[in-house]
Amino acid sequence: MSAVIATRGLVKRYGRLRAVDGIDLDVRAGDVYGFLGANGSGKTTTVRMLLGLVLATSGDIELLGARTARARQRVLPRVGALIEGPASYGHLSGRENLALLDASGPGGSWRTRTRRIAAVLEQVGLGGVGRRPVKAYSLGMRQRLGLAGALLRRPDLLVLDEPTNGLDPQGISEIRALLIDLHRGGTTIFLSSHLLAEVEQLCSRVGVLDRGRLVLQDELATLTAPTGATVVVTPAPEQARALLDGRLTSVTGDRLVVRGSDPAEVNALLVRGGVPVTGLAIERPTLEEVVLARTAASPDRVEAHP
Ligand code: ATP
Repeated sequence: MSAVIATRGLVKRYGRLRAVDGIDLDVRAGDVYGFLGANGSGKTTTVRMLLGLVLATSGDIELLGARTARARQRVLPRVGALIEGPASYGHLSGRENLALLDASGPGGSWRTRTRRIAAVLEQVGLGGVGRRPVKAYSLGMRQRLGLAGALLRRPDLLVLDEPTNGLDPQGISEIRALLIDLHRGGTTIFLSSHLLAEVEQLCSRVGVLDRGRLVLQDELATLTAPTGATVVVTPAPEQARALLDGRLTSVTGDRLVVRGSDPAEVNALLVRGGVPVTGLAIERPTLEEVVLARTAASPDRVEAHP
């Protein structure tokens, strides 16, 4: 698996504050990487360093195989970026805004450019908005226009800073669907977020930033792998308790956690004993539980739900 983004000991200091404090990011081709952290944990600063918008105090950055600042400048056209809300001219239409952006892009004939712009507008679901000025767009439409701008060069890597910030549930689900689509088309996605639920739904790999430090980085599937226990829900917990004596790790109301990762075996045991079973599942920790365990000193810093 090749590294799309790799940093070693990346630091950004503002005076005495170490906004980013020695992080080793590892983003691989094909990842949807969720860069999770509370407000002020250093996400935007990291993204800005990756894109060459802010100079690192120390450490190394490798972007699409490019290690030096000059080499990174050369690969930046292969990176689509959306940071801190898209900039656009309110009095112009989405199409006109994209035409301005495209003017510094890969070039081509007038016809090629027009087609390219129409294609990205279609891709983000803004194909039908016509000549409406951007100032009349909803926040979700503006965010989608920003994404359209990031897609103009058909990037290999998309870097998005809080792409659903400020959007309503409808807007969030539209952006999510769009990102899933882009990922299916082969784009590696790196997105920062302070929302656990968003990252859990969208990402294959997760990095957690806590006050400038990367406290966790792994595949989501590994982080939320089965614990080796089975969760049973029954309206007769006392009866179940008697049958499963010695194997229970916890009982909360009608929910019992039983050692052993074979739900069929647990079910058979209960049914033989005449205990009704209304729910049966392999136990897995949620991303929220995993993250809170690692950021225990500041449990309220990452939001579980919008
Ligand atoms: P948010 O989700 O609120 O954008 P973040 O995780 O992106 O938060 P950053 O914006 O990277 O966090 O900020 C990290 C820390 O660095 C904060 O304490 C912030 O105040 C500080 N900081 C960021 N930019 C500057 C700057 N230009 N000068 C001084 N301090 C800065």
